Amino acid sequence: MTRVFSGVKPTGHLTLGNYLGAMRQWAAVDQHRAEALFCIVDLHALTVDHDPARVRRLSRQAATLLLAAGLDPRLCTVFVQSHVDEHARLSYLLECVATDGEMRRMIQYKEKAVREQRRGGSVRLSLLTYPVLMAADILAYRTDEVPVGDDQAQHVELSRDLAVRFNQRYGHTFTVPRATLPTVAARVMNLQDPTAKMGKSDDTGPGIVYLLDDPDVVRKKVMRAVTDSGHDVVYDRAARPGLANLLEILAACAGGEPAELAGGYDSYGALKKDTAEAVVEALRPVQERHRALCADPGYVEEVLRDGAERARAMARPTVDAAYGAIGL
Ligand code: ADP
Repeated sequence: MTRVFSGVKPTGHLTLGNYLGAMRQWAAVDQHRAEALFCIVDLHALTVDHDPARVRRLSRQAATLLLAAGLDPRLCTVFVQSHVDEHARLSYLLECVATDGEMRRMIQYKEKAVREQRRGGSVRLSLLTYPVLMAADILAYRTDEVPVGDDQAQHVELSRDLAVRFNQRYGHTFTVPRATLPTVAARVMNLQDPTAKMGKSDDTGPGIVYLLDDPDVVRKKVMRAVTDSGHDVVYDRAARPGLANLLEILAACAGGEPAELAGGYDSYGALKKDTAEAVVEALRPVQERHRALCADPGYVEEVLRDGAERARAMARPTVDAAYGAIGL
């Protein structure tokens, strides 16, 4: 059976980008067609300045939201990365296979390092090596497919390179994974700056729709989205990125193709109104299930405990085999 692995970072509240670009697909498709693992990658949240208590809270919230989005622990494994030692154990071996130059070429590293420096902070070494830990997350489970948004494709590519290199050097140990991108909403953009992705880590508010935003907050954010000058509604990603983003969000939430949907509107206002309602409707069931799950915290705890046990049992043989292949 195909094995699928993917994760979310507990660095901020989960966004509409996370939902449309990843979680929704995991729940609707991946957990049914494959042996799937979904991980709250809390070790990755330590690569930048953070408040430990907040990371713990956000990890729990992310787990609750994954279940609220429809992940079913009877069909898939939901767990927290730091609960399974194999990730860090394997990461070290892969650091001995990866190169310094390879790490420095990672686009996200360059972007985030600049951001940390601007804030006056120093860049943690783990920010540089983070893609190696991500490769360990993926390779430890002999993963075939990694369903991710567009922004993570380069990291999955690195995991492939490291798997191939390790296998060549030490003998066949890892499955070589591949990224699978969603056909719609692979890159939901910030409503206030449609040249930047809607990323939770920015936590600045008005351009980001959070999964737990009240319907009125969602409406306000969508209605205030930056559009382009002009009046006609056309789908053109390069020339009209703000409009294209709204059309893609509408298509992802209500169905249809962005270019065709554009033909049905003669004003930006009408498009924004329909998009806002479509987002509110898409989030409604998730928010309802989230409320119900929050009333039963013991359940989420139990899912995570059980998930870690299952994940450990799957990862250990592979990571042991990797140590064995090196002769340790
Ligand atoms: P973030 O950038 O929000 O910290 P994560 O690294 O936790 O994202 O990603 C969780 C999943 O959500 C990944 O599969 C990622 O590709 C996807 N994702 C994140 N932001 C977006 C976005 N704006 N559009 C589409 N997919 C996204």
